[in-house]
Amino acid sequence: MLAMVLRAIKARIYPNDSQQQQAMINFGCCRFVWNQLLNMQIERYANGGSFVREFDMNLLIKTLKNEYSWLKQADSTSLQQVSRDIQDAYQRFFKKKGSFPKFKSRRFPRQSYTSKCVSNNIKVIDDHHIKIPKIGVISYRCGRQIKGKIKRATLRLSATNKFYLAILVEVDVPLFEKTNQTVGIDRNVDNLIAMSDGTIVPTIHFDKNLAYKKHQWQKKLARRRARALKEIAWDKHNRVLEPRNIKDFRNVEKARIMVAKYSEKERNQRTDYLQKLSTKIVKEFDLIAIEKLSTKNMLKNHKLARAISNQGWYALQQMLEYKCKWYGKELELVPAKNTTQTCSACGYLLQQSEKLTLDVRAWVCPKCHTHHIRDVNAANNILNSATQ
Ligand SMILES: [Zn+2]
Repeated sequence: MLAMVLRAIKARIYPNDSQQQQAMINFGCCRFVWNQLLNMQIERYANGGSFVREFDMNLLIKTLKNEYSWLKQADSTSLQQVSRDIQDAYQRFFKKKGSFPKFKSRRFPRQSYTSKCVSNNIKVIDDHHIKIPKIGVISYRCGRQIKGKIKRATLRLSATNKFYLAILVEVDVPLFEKTNQTVGIDRNVDNLIAMSDGTIVPTIHFDKNLAYKKHQWQKKLARRRARALKEIAWDKHNRVLEPRNIKDFRNVEKARIMVAKYSEKERNQRTDYLQKLSTKIVKEFDLIAIEKLSTKNMLKNHKLARAISNQGWYALQQMLEYKCKWYGKELELVPAKNTTQTCSACGYLLQQSEKLTLDVRAWVCPKCHTHHIRDVNAANNILNSATQ
């Protein structure tokens, strides 16, 4: 059995000077169109109008192009993608899944634009070259082969000043075999997850050297920035004709890039770890039950919020969601309720005086005397509420 899935393949690309310039033009045009369209939507709403849909926004882009002829320098499919992105952003907002779309600024750290694939304008030439609209043939390096039907490609400039291309392809993948196994997954702060079969998956540990270097550069960045701000203040105090800007301090910029570089490495390690883990879980189990992560409750607790972003639980949940869809498995999101304080063997809910505090790792049920490992018990409760 095969299933058709969309898959994003990330490649590092190496544009030459003129290609970099063209990319910058594209970033600028897309940003301009985004801001114009967003402004139009806001003004229209203020005047009692309704939301303008993608198709009509595309018509507006045509008039924008006549008014601002320099927009013609950009890849036209990427401008159309902007109206799709605005529509998506509005829909997320309407469904209360996202905040209201924001205007984009030149200083926005991550610049990107997306080209749609129409009539072979995006084409893989060979293992190291790909053709993209307006920019032409560009050399790339990628860990995997780019196979399948190309749908679109997003060109991105990272905080470390590297160019990447994320290529979205449609491919056929075989479904995973059924195993008749079910599992419940509990997320906890000291480990990444505990599973109902007793497996405990530890938190991601980054390369010690990497964490150390990142910390060193973070300290340097803080020190250099503070010094630069002081100098800027003195410039202003002395009424220097052209007071310097933080961007003029090359040592600050260097430290910023180094911090971004190590963060990027950490992010890659985390993603890699979660990708392998989620594939393994989806392969081994037919039904996977996991607690529904409520962002509202999490954000209230700052300590927890930081732990959660470090752990990458949300990323893990998303990976499980799409991989279950890809490979024909089932993911059940269970509302969190007393999963820790209930005995998974007999269903006894611990009384107020018996409640487990955070330091209790193992306990015995007062009713049925089953010995429980705290987090594995919670995982079993999650599985129970999905199967009952
Ligand atoms: Zn019990």
